[in-house]
Amino acid sequence: MKRVVVERKILERNESSAQKIRTILKNQSVFALNFMSSPGAGKTTIIEETIRMLKDNYGISFIDGDLETDRDAERIKALGIDTVQINTSGACHLDADMVLRAMEKISLDCDLLIIENVGNLVCPATFDVGADKNVVILSVPEGDDKVKKYPVMFNVADTILINKTDLLGFMDFDMSKVKKEAKQINPKAEVIELSAKTMSGFDKWISLIERWISEANQY
Ligand code: MG
Ligand code: ZN
Repeated sequence: MKRVVVERKILERNESSAQKIRTILKNQSVFALNFMSSPGAGKTTIIEETIRMLKDNYGISFIDGDLETDRDAERIKALGIDTVQINTSGACHLDADMVLRAMEKISLDCDLLIIENVGNLVCPATFDVGADKNVVILSVPEGDDKVKKYPVMFNVADTILINKTDLLGFMDFDMSKVKKEAKQINPKAEVIELSAKTMSGFDKWISLIERWISEANQY
């Protein structure tokens, strides 16, 4: 009973900070994406390639959540992107307070804020970080059973990227089953197959982000 109350308080506090983030982003006309996946699904690589394709036309800032290192942040900084690193010191997800503090250290004079969450398919799903859209990545080597195993995560996704499709011929990965299960759990989420290695599927993904940004700017 006590545990339930504590959890509810944590989530209520998180929600009020997420609301503050939404207000700040809206006032600055910044569109924010929250990337979530298990470790090794290719979040940082997809973010790198996404930034390469968008940075000539859009101002981009980046917040990286990682357990201990700044290796991912350094990769994005190398692209000339304003980057801030959150070391969660072991915490397995970002919360809205962490993102709010990170936003104070970064330029919000941009069109797009990219947040890379901690690699974990469980609790990042329950901590709203105030982003406009949640991007969940599933990679082919992880297996085609993950959507059903982690329904909470796939349920909060606005889009599901299936990465490493260049490995489809080497793995038992039933794409139609994954798409069917994703549709059952979350009919609204668009599923995009891509490969950050061959860059196949990126045109579709980039057009989706561009559409989201222009829709957000209409209000
Ligand atoms: Mg990473
Ligand atoms: Zn966690």
